[in-house]
Amino acid sequence: MSGKITFTMIKPDGVEANNIGPILAKINEGGFRIVAMKYMRLTPEQAGAFYEVHKERPFYGELVAYMSSGPIVAAVLTKENAVADYRTLIGATDPTKAAPGTIRQLFAKSIAANAVHGSDSDENANIEADFFFSKLERY
Ligand code: UDP
Ligand code: MG
Repeated sequence: MSGKITFTMIKPDGVEANNIGPILAKINEGGFRIVAMKYMRLTPEQAGAFYEVHKERPFYGELVAYMSSGPIVAAVLTKENAVADYRTLIGATDPTKAAPGTIRQLFAKSIAANAVHGSDSDENANIEADFFFSKLERY
């Protein structure tokens, strides 16, 4: 693996709308390599643990219910400047504010069902990648 990592999920709305392929294409076109990937459904307990940092925010309960409502694709991506470049590629949390051509502008349904997750720091990228993947599952 060269460069730094970031962690992403294709959220339940992205999977439901059959956008796994188009989103992965944008990820590859953006210069990212996939070093780990799995297709799975989170339990509410797992989604709650993943989003623990948001537990005081008003949308936490809905976010946990939503993220466990259907299958997701989890992946670790690598590229130089991975965290910041991936945040640029996905666009703003609210898709109505996301820049043209970004993954959220193209594929998100709403501020909650916003197609993808992207890590917000190198530290969280490593924590999030370790939450989903062992060393043996990274290539
Ligand atoms: N979210 C929401 N309502 C809000 C803000 C966030 O439902 O007002 C959800 C949304 O799915 C978002 C996630 O909570 O992606 C995590 O929020 P964060 O502020 O970390 O946004 P992100 O880093 O995903 O852009
Ligand atoms: Mg965030």
